[in-house]
Amino acid sequence: MRQSQLFTKTTKELPKDEASLNAQLLIRAGFVDKIMAGVYEFLPLGWRVLNKIENIIREEMDAVGGQEMFMSALSPKENWEKTGRLETMNVLMKALGANKESREINDAEYILNSTHEEVITPIAKKFALSYRDLPFSIYQIQTKFRNEARPKSGLLRGREFRMKDLYSFHVSQEDMKRYYEEVKQAYLKIFKRLGIGADTYITLASGGDFTTDFSHEFQTECQTGEDEIHVCDKCKIALNKEVLERQSICPECENKDLRLAKASEVGNIFPLNTKFSKAFDYYFTDKEGNKQIVYMASYGIGPSRLMGVIVEKFADDKGMIWPENIAPFKVHLLSLNQNEEADKLYEVLKDLGVEVLYDDREVSAGEKMADSDLLGCPFRVLISAKTKSAGKLELKLRDSNEVQMLSEKELIEKLS
Ligand code: ATP
Ligand code: MG
Repeated sequence: MRQSQLFTKTTKELPKDEASLNAQLLIRAGFVDKIMAGVYEFLPLGWRVLNKIENIIREEMDAVGGQEMFMSALSPKENWEKTGRLETMNVLMKALGANKESREINDAEYILNSTHEEVITPIAKKFALSYRDLPFSIYQIQTKFRNEARPKSGLLRGREFRMKDLYSFHVSQEDMKRYYEEVKQAYLKIFKRLGIGADTYITLASGGDFTTDFSHEFQTECQTGEDEIHVCDKCKIALNKEVLERQSICPECENKDLRLAKASEVGNIFPLNTKFSKAFDYYFTDKEGNKQIVYMASYGIGPSRLMGVIVEKFADDKGMIWPENIAPFKVHLLSLNQNEEADKLYEVLKDLGVEVLYDDREVSAGEKMADSDLLGCPFRVLISAKTKSAGKLELKLRDSNEVQMLSEKELIEKLS
């Protein structure tokens, strides 16, 4: 894409009322915009990154047999009364009807879904009633709503945010546990592909209001994370705060020497057992014709939080540094008054399928380079009078700052 066509612009100005580094950088670079506390618009560059994150998640959920669908953002109160969460979930947001002509509509009260167990369980019950229909898993990637108190961590904690939520349904606890392990491994693959595999720990957490002993969080070590975890560096797993109060040793190797670290919870998986199937009377008929309760598990990941965490983790004093798999563009091509040459290279790279942001604007060299550092694409290619007279192009790697002078052929080999 030509940067002269991009409708957003960068700014040096720090956004007002924005304490978090991720939101400061993303807003300055024109990736997101804030409409109110905890609610962000995804602008073209930010939307590209979010889509890449979500597509990686999608591929790994498809690989474990998840069937993608798309559920409503609104649901009736009654579903939440059934599970008790109308009372117990204190972040639940409600939408009120507003229609002067009709009292019926005006008095209506809906739930803005914060998660979808209350929606998916009755749907599953409509279709899967025999042991022959089980197991199966369904997922969606969608916007969630939670009335978080004082959201001031940018994308790390939104009142409106993105979540991938997968739900699985089984004939027994044993089968649920088998699939749960499979999804756990899929999650590790996702975080590896997102470039944060080495710093993301499976973390033992309490089961929350669910009926099981443990759930598993995926915590990414990050200076500005809101959570504290206790890492066993030998086993590469961690305990969260609540679990540490119950047990203070590594559950795998009994190591007592756990390392305290700041982290952000990027994913969380729960064995739900029969909590929601009981609430919705969801039974199946087994081989012998007997009625049996369905076992469930749920599996969440936060793509928008991930985007914020990745910004925070990798940024330097000049701007963002995107892992290659999720960068808005792989290459940032900068023309310093050499648009004729640069136009040609832009076309060549595009034809090779390389994603290029081409800075063809009439602004100073300094501004172009500062913007390039702020935006954080992994490869910067520069064409100037100097490189042209040397018959070369300058390639700079955003993460290591390594600079190489290459011929066009060498550059193309490297980038495609
Ligand atoms: P937290 O403890 O951080 O409030 P949670 O445990 O309530 O999160 P879950 O219900 O486990 O969140 O949601 C699944 C995933 O959705 C989380 O692991 C996180 O990645 C993401 N997520 C949850 N709340 C938010 C939020 N307010 N903003 C952005 N992402 C969120
Ligand atoms: Mg959680």
